[in-house]
This record gives sequence, C-alpha cells and structure tokens, in this order.
Amino acid sequence: MARRPLIAANWKMHKTVQEAKSFVAALLPKIAAVRDRDVLICPPFPLIHAVDQARRDTPILLGAQNMYFADSGAFTGEVSGPMLKDLHCEFVILGHSERRWVFGETDELINKKVLAAITHGLIPILCVGEKIEEREQNLTEQVILNQLDLGIKNVPENVIGTMVIAYEPVWAIGTGRNASAKDAHDAIALIREFIHSRFGSGAADKLRILYGGSVKPENMATYMREEGIDGALVGGASLDPESFAKLVTY
Ligand code: PEP
Repeated sequence: MARRPLIAANWKMHKTVQEAKSFVAALLPKIAAVRDRDVLICPPFPLIHAVDQARRDTPILLGAQNMYFADSGAFTGEVSGPMLKDLHCEFVILGHSERRWVFGETDELINKKVLAAITHGLIPILCVGEKIEEREQNLTEQVILNQLDLGIKNVPENVIGTMVIAYEPVWAIGTGRNASAKDAHDAIALIREFIHSRFGSGAADKLRILYGGSVKPENMATYMREEGIDGALVGGASLDPESFAKLVTY
C-alpha cells in the first residue's frame, strides 16, 4: 500500500511569533510544487495561532508538541486536546524523548494522552526509542516494543492505522549522530510487524512510521529510500526554512 510521506517539523522551544510568520512565508514558495506528501509544523503552544493564520489556505498541516489528557480543570501550565482542536491543530506529538527523559513522563501518562488526543480528533504522533545504554545492552527491540505496547493500550483497532509512530532513538536526537538507514529500517520494520501481528494487515499497511534523530538535508534521501520509512520527524534542521524545504523536497 502506498502511504503518503509525512515530513514533520518539531520546533521544540524555539522562535517568536514574528519568526514563525517569516518562516512560513519563506517556506511556502519553496514547497509550492510539492503535492505528493504531507508537510507538518509543530510549533510551541504560543506560536500555534500565528502559524495557523500564516498557513491558512495552504497544504501545511498544524500540530502541537504535547498536551494533557484532561479536557479542562486545575492543571496549571497544561494545555488540553479541546484547546488544540480549537486552535485548528490536526496532530499532536506525544511521548517525545524530551518529555519522557526531561519531564519524567511515563508510558502510562503518555497512553492517557494518546487516548485523549484520539477522543478529540487529533492524530497522535507517538514517539518511541531507546537510550544509548539500552542499545549497548541489546535492549533496543524490547524497549521499542514495550513503549509501543503501553503507548497504544486501548486504542481502538479501527484507529491504529490513522496514527503516526515515530522511531526516535534518544542517542540520535539533537546530537548530530543519526541512526544508520539500516538501523532505522529495522526498527520501523519491527514496529510494523508488531502492529501487523496485533491488528492485521489493514492497520499495519496504513500506519505511517517516521524516523527522527539528526535528520538533515544531506541524509534525508537515504532514509526515504528505505522500504517502510514513511517520513521524518525533524528538530534542529526544521528551524530554517531553507533546510526544511530541502527535507520536504528530498
Ligand atoms: C526531534 O526533536 O524529534 C528530533 C528528532 O530532533 P533533531 O532532528 O534535532 O535530532
């Protein structure tokens, strides 16, 4: 099954409103000819509205980098699924390694967020990936499958295929040390095989699985040549419109 590639920008905690607007204005002409793939920007919360306005009537998709699972309430500093929908977000990154390892998010919490995102019509981009010490102990497969299994717990069978999974080895994120195309391929094949064994070929064939971790214009094509890699989740190299346009037009 031909899946539509997805190239997603994770801006992390970068940019001002003006910088976000300038980015979109600079990006649009560079990707105007692109029709066969999805382009997604996930700005920090305070920039979502500005990016939404700048991308209106364009094919650029909009997402957030995190959310809380409750709809509203006494949760100081948190943002809910209904709020993101209200801002016209279509996607939400969940379980990013920085959320797991800087902010202590557990698989159980991430799963609650995944379920809440789905309830509110947001497409979760669930990130999974091993730390360097886990890789060195040959625990990569176990870690990926465990995070995946717990992260998608109770997700309805008919929804799994509409989700996005990002394989992001922690040691490759923001380090300049990208995974080899073979390692990314093998991890993504493992994820698809797990989904296939659990939910069948309909879900496994439909599910988009991205690679993330020091993706740059120079290495993007090597990933996209691999069978099963449906796109990239990009941090550092997504901050500059020139560089992100090169990733989109790999
Ligand atoms: C990320 O933030 O998801 C990421 C992969 O970052 P970078 O591309 O900078 O490694």
